[in-house]
Amino acid sequence: MAGFEAIVLGVGDTFSERHCTSALLLCHDGFKLAIDCPDRYRGVLRGVAAACGRPLPLSEIQHVLITHVHGDHMNGLEGVAFWKRFAEGTRVQLLAAPEVRASLWEGRLRAPMESLWEGHEFRRMGFEDYFDHLPLSWSDAVEAGPFRIRARRTLHHVPTSALRIECAGRTLAYSADTAFDRGLVDWLSEADLIVHETNLGPAHTPYESLATLPEPLRRRMRLIHYPDGFDANAAAIAALREGEVLRLK
Ligand SMILES: [Zn+2]
Repeated sequence: MAGFEAIVLGVGDTFSERHCTSALLLCHDGFKLAIDCPDRYRGVLRGVAAACGRPLPLSEIQHVLITHVHGDHMNGLEGVAFWKRFAEGTRVQLLAAPEVRASLWEGRLRAPMESLWEGHEFRRMGFEDYFDHLPLSWSDAVEAGPFRIRARRTLHHVPTSALRIECAGRTLAYSADTAFDRGLVDWLSEADLIVHETNLGPAHTPYESLATLPEPLRRRMRLIHYPDGFDANAAAIAALREGEVLRLK
């Protein structure tokens, strides 16, 4: 039986010409939970499958967690939901905070997804035709398969969920997009492994702020969402690479 693993699907930001945008795929004993959904998702899975040497068909992913509605974190969701409906005859099990879920449909997906031409007439579609919503909570843990998920609001342009995900006695934390927030770092640091973003601008975390954290904490931290110009080899915190498999044991 495989343990708790996180496959790195993308490490870049929305401007990257080198990397796929930031996303993880959590796995335990055959169950998969996608964390964010980059554009051209099936192509991303295919590329990472080749890099890490294991098949990653979309048919094995039913659960998708969206941290926030910025395109670099959810541009692939429209295509995934259409694929689930038309190719698999099923719906996406969508994990998202209520605030994220509301703007995800009304602000992002409704325009391209609410009307279908069926050959003789238009059909009006709603959120529930594509998605089964499993709301994340700001106060309580939520379960999806073997994963217990806690969420905390970050400092970002739009409502965004940082995560602590527990499985098989181990915990992975993900900052999602956030300005540097020492309180959030403390919350994340209860996990065994912390995936933290770094990028430019007031709504992201400067690398220099993370580099000042105590060394034992930095050792449990991995960087994601870094800009193309970031020198990953010179960083005092290990930077994730696409196709890398994190084993939480
Ligand atoms: Zn963002």
